Amino acid sequence: MANTFDEIEVLPWSEVTDIHEELFQKQLDYVLGNSEFYRRKYAGVARSSITSLADISELPFTTKDDIRESLLALPPLGLHVAAPLDEIVQIQSSSGTTGMPTFVAATSQDIETWNSMGARVFYANGFRPRDWVMHAYAMGRGFVGGLVNIEHLQHLGCCVIPLGAESGTERLLQAIDHLKPVAMCATPSMVNHLGSVAQDVLGKSATELSIRKISVGGEPGGGVPAIRQKMEELWNADVRDMMGGADFGSTYWAECDVKDGMHVCSQGALHVELIDPDTLESLPIVEGTTGELVYTTLRRQATPLIRYRMGDIVTVSDMNCSCGRTGYRIKTHGRADDMLIVRGVNVFPAAIKDVVVQLAPDTTGYLKIDLDFDGHSTYEPLKMRVEQSANSTMDSAALTQRIEDEIRNKLTVRVIVTIVPEGAIERPGAQKEKLLERS
Ligand SMILES: [Zn+2]
Repeated sequence: MANTFDEIEVLPWSEVTDIHEELFQKQLDYVLGNSEFYRRKYAGVARSSITSLADISELPFTTKDDIRESLLALPPLGLHVAAPLDEIVQIQSSSGTTGMPTFVAATSQDIETWNSMGARVFYANGFRPRDWVMHAYAMGRGFVGGLVNIEHLQHLGCCVIPLGAESGTERLLQAIDHLKPVAMCATPSMVNHLGSVAQDVLGKSATELSIRKISVGGEPGGGVPAIRQKMEELWNADVRDMMGGADFGSTYWAECDVKDGMHVCSQGALHVELIDPDTLESLPIVEGTTGELVYTTLRRQATPLIRYRMGDIVTVSDMNCSCGRTGYRIKTHGRADDMLIVRGVNVFPAAIKDVVVQLAPDTTGYLKIDLDFDGHSTYEPLKMRVEQSANSTMDSAALTQRIEDEIRNKLTVRVIVTIVPEGAIERPGAQKEKLLERS
């Protein structure tokens, strides 16, 4: 018997598809009736030719640049806004890893849709109604891990302790020690950081604290075995990954208790496609396919998005799961924006991080990749700095060689490593960990 937040998570997939077909037609009529942006964008497309989701590839993509231009063309919420401004109840800021941040508006129905997806995610991650949850994502800058995640947790029925990453290490740890919450949500780097300094701050290790369930997101890596194992050992807790993005609430992919890939959790809210990021051709969603995620909102009122390219590259890892959820699972590689091409080989910074983390305890897991070239492509070896743990007895030249060999063997990419002492690389603190640094 499946244990899910929502019945739609266990519906036969064909029934989910039927629901999506109907919602898609309604959403398309809605955007053509209410969004100037889409009226213009789809001027050359005959509405009558789009009779099912199978025809969706006839519609041009929506990109982040389109949305930025739309926002500038018609402030405050852009040409794409489709609901009257007096029905907008919340405006979020999309973090904008490249260029200016964009604004994402929601009506109260949109917030309900976001919350339904978010509650499924946290439930899949093991959180339950009445669990006390320490919220340690950044609260500032409109980051959706902040307020929006708190709303998701409340929708699920949790008791949220919204201290946020900005409260700082000491306050967060002292509150955990005093209130004894059973769960925590935060970025993997925050979970590692709090876990590593607990002994110094509280005089007890994180394993002695009350946290037994941890949901991580905001950075890639939570689903990588070596990174997960380190966090689980630090806290003696169950760690599960989730993923989403600001354009559609906060989170809509989640690991269940099988902890091997993230289930789609956006049934009835988002239609998901996979495309080849180079040719832009649609790819079948079957086990083993790697591609870029493309999302279409199915019931969005304020800022609907059709065929929106978020930039996440994923591989479909499984179509079935013993947990009973009928949604397929994916593994993520990171944002296409972050992907580096070294002598023609694609490499994601998160994959390099994974190799370095596996060399703990000789490394601390912290690193920076120094980009001394324009763009994302280079024919020279990648230069990177890696922290050696203070208690590592390994000769630094030997460690350099070890890291360079491991990365070349596992990722077929050449790197030049400079070893730096523990603490030399700035900790991400309340921010997302940035593995790339441009010189
Ligand atoms: Zn599952």
